[in-house]
Amino acid sequence: MKTIYVDNNATTQVAPEVLESMIPFLRDMWGNPSSMHTFGGQVAKYIDEARNNIASLIGAESPNEIIITSCGTESDNTAIRSALAAKPDKRHIVTSSVEHPAVLNLAKQLETEGYSVTYLQVDELGRIDLSELEKSLTPDTALASIMWANNETGVIFPIEKIAEMCSERKIPLHVDAVQAVGKIPINLTKTPITYLSLSGHKLHAPKGVGVLYVRKGTPFTPWLVGGHQERGRRGGTENVASIIGLGIACRLLSSNLTNEAKYLSSLRDRLEKGILDAIPNSFIHGDTSNRLPNTTNIGFESIEGEAILLMLNEFNICASSGSACTSGSLDPSHVMMAMGIPFTRAHGSIRFSLSRYNTEEDINIILEKLPGIIKHLRELSPFT
Ligand code: PLP
Repeated sequence: MKTIYVDNNATTQVAPEVLESMIPFLRDMWGNPSSMHTFGGQVAKYIDEARNNIASLIGAESPNEIIITSCGTESDNTAIRSALAAKPDKRHIVTSSVEHPAVLNLAKQLETEGYSVTYLQVDELGRIDLSELEKSLTPDTALASIMWANNETGVIFPIEKIAEMCSERKIPLHVDAVQAVGKIPINLTKTPITYLSLSGHKLHAPKGVGVLYVRKGTPFTPWLVGGHQERGRRGGTENVASIIGLGIACRLLSSNLTNEAKYLSSLRDRLEKGILDAIPNSFIHGDTSNRLPNTTNIGFESIEGEAILLMLNEFNICASSGSACTSGSLDPSHVMMAMGIPFTRAHGSIRFSLSRYNTEEDINIILEKLPGIIKHLRELSPFT
């Protein structure tokens, strides 16, 4: 049975072109880029090329603004810790209530270290209120950390406006753009963001490589202290093959982002319409006028998301749910709760996130199987 993978906000398939580009660096050119000899040293120029491709995808002014890390989580942690180290007298942080745990759990930890944190609330469509943000920025604010696009709903925050607001007040802004990069245009030359995180495995590069963009002139404290790699900003021998792969993944996206976004949104819209037409009491979660092109989060009243996932899994359809199984109870995710989605619907929410490798046939199969699954589960549900 064909695997229908519609969980691309969790991770993506490595693009064949990316895999090809990596093999020589695992098989032949496996030297250490820091070595004095040619065998190792020759690798460094390929890393430079990858850095240029990464910088170009996000419109960074200079490749020197790109620090290669191991993942989005490391980039988020490094940015936030570094921003706080730069302003030791300021003790306030602004973030949103729907951030990824890579930011939210660090914010909670920082509260135990004496920082006060404002968690901006979202409305029922997952939007933040810019006037709330404005009110929360004070002379004691060391940093604002706001995601570009939400991983569960795909809702896009107005980062350009947020960046202007922070920049006018000289407050550094970190943006977790792990879900946004490669899906929507990003131009850091025009948008005054201080730090931006991205992750390779969300854009068809391998796991184990990420990026932290740090705007030129920003004071920086490394998180991983060690050798002189990454111009002394992140110690550790480079994950060469994955960096090369990330460079190619970025190059592919730079040349095809608009077409790919069109393709994804047309597939996504067909899936969404097909589901809403065929299944009563199903609802889209999030602001449909301002979303990533590949994501839809749909709530099915009166059933549990996990049960839907298990039945989809029987047909090799891989999606994910908006619930987190914590301490034995199935709580709706923090994003669904922050949006105030009714409990009975948040429980039954499923995220479908598409990629360039999904086809019309994938959508047809989901639309063929899902209505029967929901009908069956509703018949069994004690809530209906
Ligand atoms: N931020 C967001 C918005 C994410 O969706 C993810 C991963 O799901 C991360 C951060 C963490 O990225 P990584 O898995 O590369 O650590």
